[in-house]
Amino acid sequence: MIQNEYLQGLMERVIDRNPAEPEFHQAVQEVLTSLVPVVEAHPEYITEGVLECLVEPERVIKFRVPWVDDAGNVRVNRGFRVQFNSAIGPYKGGLRFHPSVYEGIVKFLGFEQIFKNSLTGLPIGGGKGGSDFDPKGKSDGEIMRFCQSFMTELFKYIGPDTDVPAGDIGVGAREIGYLFGQYKRLRNEFTGVLTGKGLSYGGSLARREATGYGLCYFTDNMLRDHGRSFDGATVVISGSGNVATYACEKAMEMGAKVMAMSDSGGYVYDKDGIDLELMKQIKGEERQRISVYAQRRPTAEYHEGCRHIWEIPCDIAMPCATQNELDGAGARALIANGCYAVSEGANMPCTPEAVELLQEAGVLFAPAKAANAGGVATSALEMSQNSMRFYWSFEEVDQHLKQIMTDLYHNAAAAAEQYGKKGDLVSGANIAGFLKVADAMLAYGVV
Ligand code: NDP
Repeated sequence: MIQNEYLQGLMERVIDRNPAEPEFHQAVQEVLTSLVPVVEAHPEYITEGVLECLVEPERVIKFRVPWVDDAGNVRVNRGFRVQFNSAIGPYKGGLRFHPSVYEGIVKFLGFEQIFKNSLTGLPIGGGKGGSDFDPKGKSDGEIMRFCQSFMTELFKYIGPDTDVPAGDIGVGAREIGYLFGQYKRLRNEFTGVLTGKGLSYGGSLARREATGYGLCYFTDNMLRDHGRSFDGATVVISGSGNVATYACEKAMEMGAKVMAMSDSGGYVYDKDGIDLELMKQIKGEERQRISVYAQRRPTAEYHEGCRHIWEIPCDIAMPCATQNELDGAGARALIANGCYAVSEGANMPCTPEAVELLQEAGVLFAPAKAANAGGVATSALEMSQNSMRFYWSFEEVDQHLKQIMTDLYHNAAAAAEQYGKKGDLVSGANIAGFLKVADAMLAYGVV
């Protein structure tokens, strides 16, 4: 129940109008709850219809993606692009290829993206897309044909000043290459329409590392504000994809020992600390299951299933795999073992119950919207470099990223304090992200 009659009514309308989309409801509920003190201070956001517009995507595109597999069979998937909000810039957000993708997942991710992108301080609106296509076990040829078919429809709706997609779960450098190649061919133009591109065709140095590194920069600011640091800390990271890998790399560089990582099959606990080079080889280059890590590393043990990873004692936990992967039981285990900070690398990885338990127990909590914004921030830097047709060094991009994450932390912390929620970064991130977008929407009138 949201402690404001208008916001509670709006939440009920969102549920009615978007049935059977629990992830979207969860994301909206969290934001509207944070906005109670804001609408009390600024009733114009209600009277001018800003909130009513904010929860409705500007456009939802849903399309058929037919492709031919290696055996010659015709296969059909569904593609989506939700162009949620363009008040402060072109729609920007990743594409996710995973069997769990449906409209509700894309709407939840697109909605979150509005506030995240606003928080970066850069001129980018919110969007997200994807498909229920499962890239696991597919050949390069199948991936290429799927990506080409996907782009053959999507290209009609995107452009460097309209909507700039990027990667997400299941969409990495290989997929971006196929998607960009097809866009370029169809439009006959070379523009920065996708980010996360390869370095030889317009990509930015440090984009690959940016979400994981940014997560650590944000967390470092939060820890230091409370007299702590990564140095000497033990860390548990879920996932072993893009975000998890580079969060692990930066945390180790900052002096932490990473005890465990996972994939969708299970997790590995390594008492000597994760050997990241071996992990990158197995999960990145060889595209194998994480269980292979334990076969090759005597100090590691493999556990089937992911739920119990949070029972491993650690100082800092960083869920970097997927939504709702850290629930109430996971939060209780972390608290009981003395964990003092949780930073969300994935989007909405903690359930509402977990967030409540962690905050009540005084665990420092860095919400995804703010903590994992480094990826999209660096994507915006890639867009700038594409427009300039000039490229920065790794160090320059990394320096921008560090500054953006530091500013972002302080802005979220300040917004929380200003609205009577000192120390609550969930509220702070939602409020700071909202205000910029809402003021732009007010300026436009009813559009
Ligand atoms: P990847 O596809 O590179 O990696 C995802 C990882 O999570 C893999 O280890 C995968 O295991 C695991 N995983 C996926 N689904 C599940 C599941 N249902 N249960 C358990 N584990 C699962 O994706 P990213 O690292 O790019 O993205 C991870 C999260 O971070 C997502 O929530 C994404 O939205 C978010 N994010 C990503 C950004 C980016 O720049 N890439 C930016 C901001 C947020 P397996 O190998 O078995 O598939």
